[in-house]
Amino acid sequence: MNEIKLFRQTRWRLASWYAGVMGIILALSALGVYEAIDHAHRIAADRELQSIAGRLHDNLEPTLQQPGIISDAAKRFLPNSCVGFHQCSTAIVANHSPGEVFQGSYYIRLLSPTEELLAMAGLKTQGLPMTSPTKSWQFLKDQSKIRYRQITLPLQNSNTPLWGYLQVGSSLADSDQYLASVRLAFFIGFPLALAFVGVASWWLAGRAMRPIHQSYQQMQQFTADAAHELRTPIAAAQATVESVLDTPYLSESDTRETLQILDRQHQRLSHLIQDLLLLTRLDRQVRTSPEQSCGLQDLVTDIAEELAALALNKQVQLQTNIRVDQPLWVTGDEAQLYRLVINLVINAIQHTPEGGKVTLSLEAQDQQAVIQVQDTGVGIAPEYQSKIFDRFYRVNSDRNRQTGGSGLGLAIAQAIAKAHRGKIQVQSRLGQGCSFRVYLPQATKTVPPMLGFGHDTSRNAAND
Ligand code: ADP
Repeated sequence: MNEIKLFRQTRWRLASWYAGVMGIILALSALGVYEAIDHAHRIAADRELQSIAGRLHDNLEPTLQQPGIISDAAKRFLPNSCVGFHQCSTAIVANHSPGEVFQGSYYIRLLSPTEELLAMAGLKTQGLPMTSPTKSWQFLKDQSKIRYRQITLPLQNSNTPLWGYLQVGSSLADSDQYLASVRLAFFIGFPLALAFVGVASWWLAGRAMRPIHQSYQQMQQFTADAAHELRTPIAAAQATVESVLDTPYLSESDTRETLQILDRQHQRLSHLIQDLLLLTRLDRQVRTSPEQSCGLQDLVTDIAEELAALALNKQVQLQTNIRVDQPLWVTGDEAQLYRLVINLVINAIQHTPEGGKVTLSLEAQDQQAVIQVQDTGVGIAPEYQSKIFDRFYRVNSDRNRQTGGSGLGLAIAQAIAKAHRGKIQVQSRLGQGCSFRVYLPQATKTVPPMLGFGHDTSRNAAND
């Protein structure tokens, strides 16, 4: 699968999953809100119904004498009522009565103990079914599908153990209409919200994948560059061997020269492999071991001593400038830190023409150790300054290849600095030299280097 297709497909999948999960969350939230509204309406309606039915029940009960007979006193509480099943079923009560009980949309039904309708009052309903009084709360529907909520209370007093039942109900038309409008808003709003979530997911997935895409491209570039760099010495060695094999007679000096070429290519190859292995190890290294620490004064002095011959050879003046009175320690791997600084100093010597100067200084700044490598060399143009830390990057690849550089020196230096929670900064002007500054956090307590892990052994470890 090619790269564009792979990333497009992954982005699509990521966006779909995100939109799907968001869609489910949105749907559940909408359902929750709807249920909450419905519940609140029902509770409010039930409370009102219960209060009205309770008051009516309390007023009616003392007026009841014989079961099934509605006294005149009771009729006072049932204005505009129809009494008796036949009247009620033909000429059911007219409109709302002015009584307190009927201020809302309520109907009242009085039932005998044998569940016969004795009287009706209040709201006019059409085809509302009779229901058993055994259940105290019920939902009912009339012929025109209007829903009602009904409460049933038994009527009894000292004269009669069970006079009958009182049923009071209210229309849920308003509440249902409101809920219908909420549902409509959800039905219209949900697809719109989902469309918005879909677009946002696509955009977010793109953003989330950008760094992955970049590192994928870097990896591909790295693999291509590594293959290219590894191929160069192998191809050179192969060409040398082929030309020697074609020669019928080899003198001793020819043989020696051939072996020297092969040795050079072999060394180049093994350095490259060591550098690649070190980079891989640094990439995996989460944090430096807190048990190890490194004294920077010794490190700077040792490096200056080690590179004195190289500087002399290039006729470059190499100076050290240690501006600290107290020993300066940092936590970390001495061999790696040695490799970091020596890479910078070698670069500085190599890119400084004869008669130039390289200064290696050390100072402390705000709990940080600062190592500076300054030269008066060729410098680096601003457009290359951000790229020189990339793996295999060389400003002038042909010239730098001749110096033996593979373009990994600064990448390794930066990886080591990061592994030690530090950073490297570069300042340069073309033709006026460079200044590389390495910032490393100072160690809070100094831990001497481990026994048997002296300078030389540990430094070699960085190259293994
Ligand atoms: P190399 O191993 O090829 O030296 P580096 O990663 O060490 O690779 O450096 C990357 C590039 O940065 C080099 O090719 C060189 O052009 C440039 N560079 C590094 N240090 C200096 C310096 N002190 N002065 C000028 N250019 C430098």
